[in-house]
Amino acid sequence: MAGTRSGPGIPATPDRDRLTGVLVPVGPLELSVEEVRQLWSFIHGDIMDGSMRRLLRASLGLCPRHTWAYAVVEVELWQAGAGARGGHQPFDVTILYEDLLEHVADGLDRKSSLLHRHPEGALLPVGPCRICQDMASPDLPGLRMGYANSNTEALTAEANAMVHTTTWCLETVALWRDRVCPDCDPGTAEGAGDRVFLCCFHLAARRPLPDRLRHAVAARLREIRGRIRQLTESMTDYGAPVGAIENTSWIEAIGFFAGWGLPLYLATDPEEAWPKPGSQGADQGE
Ligand SMILES: [Zn+2]
Ligand SMILES: [Zn+2]
Repeated sequence: MAGTRSGPGIPATPDRDRLTGVLVPVGPLELSVEEVRQLWSFIHGDIMDGSMRRLLRASLGLCPRHTWAYAVVEVELWQAGAGARGGHQPFDVTILYEDLLEHVADGLDRKSSLLHRHPEGALLPVGPCRICQDMASPDLPGLRMGYANSNTEALTAEANAMVHTTTWCLETVALWRDRVCPDCDPGTAEGAGDRVFLCCFHLAARRPLPDRLRHAVAARLREIRGRIRQLTESMTDYGAPVGAIENTSWIEAIGFFAGWGLPLYLATDPEEAWPKPGSQGADQGE
């Protein structure tokens, strides 16, 4: 019926969790050999060909765990490339998220009409995470080798060390610390913080959203997208080098789509950044 709040196509929360997995907690991210194998070949695949692009738009990329894992695998394992860093940079990731930021911003800016009654639907993935899906599919004989016969166990150990991801997070933390989703940040009291910084998950949980908030979030996503585009170009032969504000863009983009658990874990000191409510740690037994 017209007028119902959660219209067709907008799954209730349990369905949404089934489709997307849960947010990555503030803590270590230990990837399995199979996850690294899947993601490494995902990175080498044609992620942006027409049909794959449509699927990835519909599912808003990957689930939160595999979104961070995707970035980690690319940043850790990509040895050589163009641009000032020459490698260990999120090139595939920025191309995909430039596209997804625009897709979600367009959806949020859409006028609600008879046809599109719920612009917030842009925050909800349709279809499963393809890495989760591939991991769950039965073994196909002969297909369980790494990309180009690479030694996936060694690559997994390298990815899990997260040396380069940690460096990226530490180098940029001063720029993103104030833009973390307040609901992802254990240091923010429940319900406090600027709603415009909410991640995709926590925004979706507050549906329906006031129009002003929807448009403000869309503007924020477009602003991140502008910086991500410059970052992508800096990783090509013709692009100019970029500064810290562009280098921060991919962490903000992934924070929006997959929550902030991993960068908070890698780059902030919980004792310092997250004061215990009502005390200065007096109850903390060492
Ligand atoms: Zn997944
Ligand atoms: Zn959040």
